[in-house]
Amino acid sequence: MTEKLYFNDSYVKECDARVNRVTDKGVILDRTVFYPSGGGQPGDSGTITVNNNNFKVINTVKDGDEVLHIIENQLDEIKEGDYCHCTIDWEKRYMFMKFHTSIHLIDGIVNKMPDYEGLITGSQIYEDRARVDFSLESFSQEMAQNIIDTVNRAIKENHDIKIRYMSGEDALKIPNISRTAPGRELIKDLQIVRIIEIDGIDEQADGGTHVANTSELGQINLQKIENKGKKNKRLYFTLSP
Ligand SMILES: [Zn+2]
Repeated sequence: MTEKLYFNDSYVKECDARVNRVTDKGVILDRTVFYPSGGGQPGDSGTITVNNNNFKVINTVKDGDEVLHIIENQLDEIKEGDYCHCTIDWEKRYMFMKFHTSIHLIDGIVNKMPDYEGLITGSQIYEDRARVDFSLESFSQEMAQNIIDTVNRAIKENHDIKIRYMSGEDALKIPNISRTAPGRELIKDLQIVRIIEIDGIDEQADGGTHVANTSELGQINLQKIENKGKKNKRLYFTLSP
């Protein structure tokens, strides 16, 4: 199983590793700083250096318990047992971390607003924006702006974001620790569950990368809302310093 260095510290940008397996698409290492796409967060890109040759990683995906680094070309030059150095595209990843933490913040805040509890059904992060889906029949610009304004006030309160671990059994005792039914099913089978806590605002089981304090988020801006069906409304937001 690939050792996932981003789990304990999302700020690790580089590491040394050993090539465990080469597939027709890319490489699997013994340890990595590359985050594989999942939970609405895109996979990392970056560089893997082997014997002074740089290989471009164009995406990172899960392969069972392992992490597959998808390499652009020249794969025949990398061999099992080679030692390498990994470097992620930090600027891009840091944006993903900010968007991911913002989504948790929105989730935590919306779930405490009267009439909104349990109504967030999904989210997705893009390079320059993110979206949150609501199971609502009607959603106005005013309602969306109200959420954004409340989140911006929380950002300014400088809440710490902490990572902790517990057993699946203990995690399931915490109400709302996973917001989806498949998520709760997944936790049942896990020996250790990683919990992301935004001090005083949100707490949930999560495998993504996050910033350490809400002050890093700057400001979130409402981009647009979309009607995606009778009970599916979508909010897009951007971030600015
Ligand atoms: Zn998350």
